[in-house]
Amino acid sequence: MADSNQTLQATLQQPHNCHRHCRDAHCAVCTDRVGRLGCQVYKCTNCKLSVHKKCHKLVTTECGQRSLPSESTMPVDPSSMASDPVHTAILHNLSTHEASEQVDEESEAGNTGESGKASSGLGLEDFDLLHVIGRGSYRKVLLVQMKKSDHMYAMKAGKEEHANIDRIQTKKHVLQKASSCPFLVGLHSCFQTGSRLFFVLDYVNGGDLMFYMQQQRMIPEEHARFYPAEITLAFNYLHQRGILYRNLKLDNILLDSEGHIKLTDYCLCKEGLQPEDTTSTFCGTPNYLAPEIARGEDYGFGVDWWSLRVLMYEMIGKSPFHLDESSDNSDQNSNNNLLQVILERDILIPRCLSVKAASVLEGVLNRDPKEQLGCDPHRGFPDVQEHPFFQNVDWDMMEQKQVVPPFKPNISDQFGLDNFDPEFTNEPVWLTSVDNDIVRKV
Ligand code: ADP
Ligand code: MG
Repeated sequence: MADSNQTLQATLQQPHNCHRHCRDAHCAVCTDRVGRLGCQVYKCTNCKLSVHKKCHKLVTTECGQRSLPSESTMPVDPSSMASDPVHTAILHNLSTHEASEQVDEESEAGNTGESGKASSGLGLEDFDLLHVIGRGSYRKVLLVQMKKSDHMYAMKAGKEEHANIDRIQTKKHVLQKASSCPFLVGLHSCFQTGSRLFFVLDYVNGGDLMFYMQQQRMIPEEHARFYPAEITLAFNYLHQRGILYRNLKLDNILLDSEGHIKLTDYCLCKEGLQPEDTTSTFCGTPNYLAPEIARGEDYGFGVDWWSLRVLMYEMIGKSPFHLDESSDNSDQNSNNNLLQVILERDILIPRCLSVKAASVLEGVLNRDPKEQLGCDPHRGFPDVQEHPFFQNVDWDMMEQKQVVPPFKPNISDQFGLDNFDPEFTNEPVWLTSVDNDIVRKV
């Protein structure tokens, strides 16, 4: 399960040709310095012209001519430049050298110097690092305690050189917005130290649904209604704010001490979408990819609803789209095979299910995005709410967390560490040799 659940992002979304810029480089359009954290920069590898991503549509010079644009040559509507052959050439040239990134020590993330103190005044030295509770490809999640208040937090630490700055910004924005939704993990603070970025998050001590499901194997239909109902509310909160989540999977669904869910891991979120808007980045967790993503088509909020049904299927039986474990193919081949499975395999609906549950799951047999549950850009949420499977859900009670969860995590020790995989909690907390620079600074 773990292998096929790894995000495709690692292999398919890495920015190309990332390299640092000279600190004194300036944007050829707005003349501000390039290379602050949060500013994505395009650099033409041909003529070395550098521009902020936000300014790149205003480039009026032909490749090789390094003059700054004058007001008279600036188009009123930057989008009109795409049809202009001169600009098309330059835009094409810049866009093929996508996203050169610069992260400066005086970062927008709040770092003000050697100690890594953020504008909030917090740095690594303000926390006791207690345990490792999770780990991804480039980041660790730690249970930490703030020295001043004794308050517990989860701290997500990622290496900056693996970061895509746009994604970090998006993640930060989503975390900030998430703080006011009961079904989303919120942000306490963030700061940067040396080569690492730290997000300090609400600590959710009931563990994640992956850990729970590993012990249960499958859960009753009634339970498989409760969790998706709360996830539906979380999705609606995000979608109403123009945010597509794209990262639903069992290990991104945390349980609080009462058993209510909180979604975490916003690294694949897309911001700024209107209901009818689409996007096209090929990313997500293979098993949960909607067919339109697998086909490389544009897609909208419907892909989140698709992943919800895959999750429900997984809770009631096993993943509808899995490869045979005997498959000895390389990762790339198995990803390709999995895409084929998502697009073509006939799905068996477990016989033991009620008619209503079966009808939700049967939806994953239909690969046409225009016919899927939640596909109407203006009615995604009500359509899901009104599905017969959710007929008996009291959505108001659900929203106020008044519906009693089917399972209450066992918080046996002080921190609830029993709810996290011992593979992580037994890991020595910090500090590996690569973190020596941080030790020095702390
Ligand atoms: P990644 O991007 O590496 O997948 P996640 O944010 O999903 O990172 O975190 C990895 C794991 O760490 C999660 O599956 C979960 O078990 C644990 N975790 C993450 N955030 C929290 C949190 N706020 N509270 C408790 N556990 C968390
Ligand atoms: Mg995750």
